[in-house]
Amino acid sequence: MDYTKQIQEIVAKLFAEDKIDVFAGYRMTGFDENQVPVLIQSSGEVSRLVFNDKSVFNLCNYLKYDHTRNKRVGLVVKGCDSRSLNLLLTEGQVKRERLYIVGIACDGVVDEQGNKMQNCEECMFPDALVYDELLGTQHPEGKYKVNSDIKELASKGLVERRAYFEEIFESCIRCNACRHSCPLCYCTKCCIDQETSKLYNGANNTSSAFHALMTWSLHLAGRCVDCRNCEKACPSHLPLHLLHKWNERVIYENFQEHLSGVKEGDRGAFYKYSLQDPDDFIM
Ligand code: SF4
Ligand code: SF4
Ligand code: SF4
Ligand code: SF4
Repeated sequence: MDYTKQIQEIVAKLFAEDKIDVFAGYRMTGFDENQVPVLIQSSGEVSRLVFNDKSVFNLCNYLKYDHTRNKRVGLVVKGCDSRSLNLLLTEGQVKRERLYIVGIACDGVVDEQGNKMQNCEECMFPDALVYDELLGTQHPEGKYKVNSDIKELASKGLVERRAYFEEIFESCIRCNACRHSCPLCYCTKCCIDQETSKLYNGANNTSSAFHALMTWSLHLAGRCVDCRNCEKACPSHLPLHLLHKWNERVIYENFQEHLSGVKEGDRGAFYKYSLQDPDDFIM
């Protein structure tokens, strides 16, 4: 999967036709084989753009920051990224007419060791679901699979599970990189930010991390699209997908097989109420 040339040509044309002010894409780090996001502001910078199976980040995160706000923005989205874009559109955070979306029919991305990422192995929607033009050959829609780590976690008892999570939360340094890197965490004042929240009195211990991350995961329940931007940003390398994939499974199994961001306009499981909604899974 390498769409570097096509993306460079598309972006050069977009600037030449004065259709965008800024383009969010990927560039090489300059010191290894990995990539980082880049915001291109003129046609002279287009040659910096790359796209291949190392283009791991979800660029929709840049739509919540000032350097794209009120601008005409072009960006690249893979299937998972496009689901978060659908949610941002649905939740009124971005205007479709201000976007030019280069969608990718995605064959999967790899981690820094070159291994296909776990979310890609289990991906149901590899092709961008919202786009102006699509690059690549479309794939058939996948089948829902319970995440392999969640299967293992579910086999543990409640006490063992709690101890397991406490051990994970012990390594959290409350840096908030996870919430800052999530495209769906766009609140200007966040209730779990250590610097601004009055909830924890500045405490940085396991119980405050436990509370903050559980709260965070509930704010993403029925919204997380499994792009793993948060996990890639975590300096403690915490397996944050365990929180989100747990919620995803509970919601899929109990709320009409809901999966987030698949259609623009679908506000998600927590916005729909039905008398038939079950509650027996609540602890
Ligand atoms: S999760 Fe799916 S869409 Fe996202 S990078 Fe992996 S294969 Fe591509
Ligand atoms: S919580 Fe993490 S995996 Fe889920 S949408 Fe946000 S960044 Fe992506
Ligand atoms: S954790 Fe909750 S309050 Fe904080 S930015 Fe995310 S959705 Fe907003
Ligand atoms: S990025 Fe990692 S260490 Fe930082 S607050 Fe989130 S979970 Fe904790």
